[in-house]
Amino acid sequence: MRINSDLCTGCRLCVRHCPFDAIEVVDKRARFKDNCNSCGACIEVCKFHAITLDEVPGKSTGRAEEGPVTYAGIWVFAEQRQGRLAGVVLELLGVARELASQSNTDVTAVLLGQGVAGLASQLIACGADRVYLVEHQELTSYRTEPYTYILSNLVQEYRPEILLLGATHIGCDLAPRLARRLNTGLTADCTGLAVDPEEKILLQTRPAFGGNLMATIACPHHRPQMATVRPGVIVKLEPDYTRKGEVIRQSYTIPPEVLRTTVLEIVQTTATTVNLEEAEIIIAGGRGLGGPEGFRKLEKIAALLGATVGASRGAVEAGWIGREHQVGQTGKTVQPKLYIACGISGAIQHLAGMQRSGCIVAINTDASAPIFRVADYGIVGDVHQILPVLAEEIQTFK
Ligand code: FAD
Repeated sequence: MRINSDLCTGCRLCVRHCPFDAIEVVDKRARFKDNCNSCGACIEVCKFHAITLDEVPGKSTGRAEEGPVTYAGIWVFAEQRQGRLAGVVLELLGVARELASQSNTDVTAVLLGQGVAGLASQLIACGADRVYLVEHQELTSYRTEPYTYILSNLVQEYRPEILLLGATHIGCDLAPRLARRLNTGLTADCTGLAVDPEEKILLQTRPAFGGNLMATIACPHHRPQMATVRPGVIVKLEPDYTRKGEVIRQSYTIPPEVLRTTVLEIVQTTATTVNLEEAEIIIAGGRGLGGPEGFRKLEKIAALLGATVGASRGAVEAGWIGREHQVGQTGKTVQPKLYIACGISGAIQHLAGMQRSGCIVAINTDASAPIFRVADYGIVGDVHQILPVLAEEIQTFK
């Protein structure tokens, strides 16, 4: 939606007819508020034809006030907690680079926080051409309202064609709120992204119907095209600290009405958090372990190796280990340097979550188990005999 300030007389007709109270008149010119959802009610009532709706997105860059509504560039939300970037950000920059080269555009990272400027060089090294940096006391810890406010303002000002976020707790909270604010679509929890070679629009792939089929979703009529991407499904680019990029500081005043919540305290739990996505070594067990006590053996070896324990859905559904350990299509997608699969058959849904691991070692009594097709090293044998030997060997070498 656009208001042509040459035609607008500030008559307030649109203000009176807006069902959402989303237009205000400032300096005798109408202006959309943040909550405008482009319903179009104001277009019809404007006697001066000053309000128009641009339905087809254009291609060139430009700030909002510089001309017709155009969209360009790929943005990655650079999620950080306590000054540390989420692993998925680096993965998103990798895929954004690939998409950018197919669409002949550039990659921008958007970094929000306080005292986080030092992260910009990492973002550039990992693929960003540009970093928009907004530092503000109220952005120190993530909160839905101020983050939505700043990010939606940036998007409205610079109009990216694509906006990617990680499907993390923060991304899953922020993305839908933002999509609503920007009146655009959102594909959540994608496992693959590509550019349609003819239409040049984003093709967003994700499991649908409980993981029984993969759906490819497009958003042809609204911008930006927004997706959250599951951590671990995309390979990170190796950082290149010789890459050059620009850092653009933006400053915003956050109105008090935006700050409806206060962070009183952040309590870090020391309970068993399972960070499979960022683990370098995973030792995972399946139904072949025979019961929960099989996982105690895996935990012992995991402690020796500094590994994280994963599991097949078979083992999770048997109640031998918590769901947070599940690897696969409906569990976590992982890409550690080393993945040791113990008593896991290698069903397609399990492979979908771990086949990008650096080195896969499989232990299984059945030499024809499909896990051996993706394994770099296979041991045909009983896990209960092999695991104690493995533990002993590791202890000897430590
Ligand atoms: P099994 O298939 O029963 O395999 C056990 C293996 O252990 C066998 O190969 C056997 O030879 C071996 N074995 C037995 N005894 C021993 C021993 N003593 N020593 C060594 N090896 C031994 N599965 C997932 O893992 N992750 C998912 O995210 C997932 N999502 C799914 C989504 C959908 C929509 C569907 C339909 C299924 C999904 N599944 C998923 C389930 C998947 O199809 C398999 O059923 C599951 O992975 C099997 O688990 P498993 O390999 O532990 O068990």
